[in-house]
Amino acid sequence: MKLQFVGANHQVTGSAHYVEACGKRFLVDYGMEQGNMSYESQGLPCAESEIDFVLLTHAHVDHSGMLPYLCAKGFSGPIYTTDATADLCSIMLRDCAHIQLQEAEWKARKKKRGADITEGFEPLYTMADADNAIRLLVSCHYDVMVDICEGIRVRFTDVGHLLGSASIEVFLSENGVYKTICFSGDIGNKDQPLIKDPAYTKRADYVLMESTYGDRYHEKSEINPIEDLAKIIQETLDGGGNVVIPSFAVGRTQEILYFIKQIKERELVKYHDFPVYVDSPLAVDATEIFQKNFYTCFDEEALEMVRRGENPLTFPGLNLAITAEESKAINSDEEPKVIISASGMCEAGRVRHHLKHNLWRPECTILFVGYQAMGTLGRAIVEGADEVKLFGEPISVRAAIMSLPGLSGHADRDGLIEWLDKFEEKPKCVFMVHGDDMSAESLAEYVNKEMKIPAYVPYSGTVFNLATGEFEYEAIPEKRKKKIFIVSDAFARLVAAGQRLMAVINKNKDHANKDLAKFTNQINSLCDKWDPDNFYIEEPSGKKSKKSKKKS
Ligand SMILES: [Zn+2]
Ligand SMILES: [Zn+2]
Repeated sequence: MKLQFVGANHQVTGSAHYVEACGKRFLVDYGMEQGNMSYESQGLPCAESEIDFVLLTHAHVDHSGMLPYLCAKGFSGPIYTTDATADLCSIMLRDCAHIQLQEAEWKARKKKRGADITEGFEPLYTMADADNAIRLLVSCHYDVMVDICEGIRVRFTDVGHLLGSASIEVFLSENGVYKTICFSGDIGNKDQPLIKDPAYTKRADYVLMESTYGDRYHEKSEINPIEDLAKIIQETLDGGGNVVIPSFAVGRTQEILYFIKQIKERELVKYHDFPVYVDSPLAVDATEIFQKNFYTCFDEEALEMVRRGENPLTFPGLNLAITAEESKAINSDEEPKVIISASGMCEAGRVRHHLKHNLWRPECTILFVGYQAMGTLGRAIVEGADEVKLFGEPISVRAAIMSLPGLSGHADRDGLIEWLDKFEEKPKCVFMVHGDDMSAESLAEYVNKEMKIPAYVPYSGTVFNLATGEFEYEAIPEKRKKKIFIVSDAFARLVAAGQRLMAVINKNKDHANKDLAKFTNQINSLCDKWDPDNFYIEEPSGKKSKKSKKKS
């Protein structure tokens, strides 16, 4: 009976956990790694074809994106997940295969033109592999005990992160030893539009939990995204411009539609018949899946709308663009409108065409509604770029660039602690996954010290014996042994934050802002506190020494 950590260890993406019990080998999630990874994954401890089954927490690519690859390598067992996740995977895995294919073709073209690229000309997997994975999906209901095989039962609980998202309890019994493990999946944020709040788990011997926001809090002040969105739409339409919303196709797009439905119902914008376009085939398909799963996944407020005979995701003036021609037609007339399109970080997809047509127009607004990762076009625009390149053409940024705060699918530190605190019996130990070094370790420290539950942040390759409750092998990456690298990760984050800060400060240059003066003082006192001349430094020998304070 053992648990091996495979992916999303000390990082956010690439979720994958391996369990051996009752003569079976199985995975909980098999997600794709995205962006630059700080640590290497040690990979699966056995051949893909030897995996008997997979349990899937939710449809996001960082949890499901490698399932087609598993099939390509010979896996042919069932993939157990919730009804809505199975529905979403049937479109998202195909979309993922499509992206792999496009990227491989793009690399091959660039290589032809003389670019220095040596690999990546073959897609990671094909559409046929994605279809194979989709055929293996087994839909399960929430809160129902599912017998997988002799000695293994599982139960899915709605964890309120995305339509269909679940935490999974795994009940193992082998040779008279009984153990329960709870895999949290991604834990949802309370009061998200449309979907329910996270439901809690009462008991487990071991808990594997996500820690994305383990060291951060969401802003708790009065945020009203519906009113903020209404104001932005009103002002932009008044000026004769379009509101372009780059949005993730699955989840966030449906939330925005739900907000606009309420804006129209409550007549918060004076032209309540303003046109809204959803221009993303994936978003259109996902919206249909949301509508199919109203009853199992929606919260009371959205269900109340359904009971009144209203569809929470449609309203007068909504247009769904499916074909390329329909997409092109959106910018062919001058009528002010709202355009929701993917991808959410503007790296690919039809939103790039809408940016090309609208970014240079001062009367338009580009409204960001999700996280923009470092290095993406979305991030460059949010950070105040004056000009960006789209389809090889320089485009000036003259539109208003805005962000809608208060939307997050992840629980913050308080939410994560609350989720763990709801266990009626303290788990024997907790493993933090799906969080970078600082988030995961900060949360583990709290759980250890304040909640008095042993908490670990394992690295990929670590093996834990579930029967004895002891580590069989603790993996420690080379670079972690040299502590300097931990600092370098933190340092990269700090530099990125600093660059962003500079953009904000420059934007405020000609405006009176008393907060900035206060902020300057706070920054100065932080600089005093952190000046290396004023604090302890770690010497290579591990000895601590205090540097003498410089006299000025
Ligand atoms: Zn997720
Ligand atoms: Zn995730």
